[in-house]
Amino acid sequence: MQIVIIGAGVIGLATAWRTAAGGAAVTLVDPAPASGASSVAAGMLTPVSELTYGEEPLLRLGLASRDRYGAFVAELEELTGLETGYRTDGIIEVAFDSDDLRHLDDLRRFQESLGIPVEALTGRECRRLEPMLAPGVRGGLLAPEDGSVDPRRLAPALLAAGERLGVRLVRRRAERIVVENDAAAGVGLDDGTVIRADRVLLAAGPWSGDLGGLPPGTVPPVRPVKGQVIRLRTRTPFLRRPARGLVRGSSVYLVPRADGEIVLGATQEELGFDTRVTAGGLWELLRDARELLPGITELEFAEVTAGLRPGSPDNAPVMGPTALPGLLVGTGHFRNGVLLTPVSADILSAMLLDGPVPEVAGPFAPDRFSPEVSA
Ligand code: FAD
Repeated sequence: MQIVIIGAGVIGLATAWRTAAGGAAVTLVDPAPASGASSVAAGMLTPVSELTYGEEPLLRLGLASRDRYGAFVAELEELTGLETGYRTDGIIEVAFDSDDLRHLDDLRRFQESLGIPVEALTGRECRRLEPMLAPGVRGGLLAPEDGSVDPRRLAPALLAAGERLGVRLVRRRAERIVVENDAAAGVGLDDGTVIRADRVLLAAGPWSGDLGGLPPGTVPPVRPVKGQVIRLRTRTPFLRRPARGLVRGSSVYLVPRADGEIVLGATQEELGFDTRVTAGGLWELLRDARELLPGITELEFAEVTAGLRPGSPDNAPVMGPTALPGLLVGTGHFRNGVLLTPVSADILSAMLLDGPVPEVAGPFAPDRFSPEVSA
């Protein structure tokens, strides 16, 4: 079976590895592997802290992925000898004022109603866990089973794992899907060459709708949602685990790495394919982070970047066959693509190989956006 995967972000890379492990010949097409959201993301693994009302199927998918992470990373690190920065220290969520605390209390009650373990913390308990938190922090929650990974380490490890299993990387832009006899038959590249395939997976993040050759409506709309991020550096211990905060209703997070990097993020802006870093975006992040952790102003500045999250119309992933036989999509992972990498790779590789598809995939089929299903 010949498979072509378009897009080497974490979703395409992990699926390529798993599909090659299942015995297929896999070609991965990307002019700049892991240059999209996967190179900007903070890498929080937090189905619980990110929980939003009405998103229970996404929560189940997130929990299924988080449960797979330990074994996924262990296999990856053993195969490649590369580290991924995977950590399981839990995530602390803190409230700046009493309104923020009320919001966290609501969130805790909702999580408990779904049987998810979270610990409510007083302000003092928050500071005992994270001594750098501001004295004014009102209280918080600990999601003890959440964690983090470094996407800038994860992506090269996934690429190396795929290459070990024979995945061929073609550093070119895919321009069109080749359609023959009303089915996908391959991919046309920007140098005019065509790679023929039995199946094609479109995993090009927010660019997934850009390919030529497709009948209208084949790929559900995916939009870019901009996120700006600041990378700081510390030589002395600053945070033991990722901290998310609500500051007067606005959300900010800091994710520490073992090497002293701290990722401070992230804005959420609907501005199309705009990746400019703005003074206002950075100011908001620093302003809110300083309210929670005043010591951040002492940290060394390292880098600012902006990335584009792939967002579907309902902000949930889109994974599965399209109306064009032979063409599948794997995108729309929005704010959770790093978390959802292991389960998405299992789902998409099973679909490509005709294996048993994990049940949690059910609500994320592309046809949920087709007019008949929506009606
Ligand atoms: P991408 O990583 O965007 O990769 C798409 C790839 O497709 C790119 O490499 C690009 O070069 C390639 N491509 C595009 N067009 C073509 C073409 N025509 N031909 C060939 N290749 C093409 N998720 C979490 O789980 N936890 C977090 O803490 C987190 N934080 C985030 C913070 C920010 C600021 C942002 C922006 C995102 C964050 N995310 C987080 C979300 C996560 O990064 C994304 O959901 C995930 O990276 C999506 O992966 P992807 O492989 O679908 O897309």
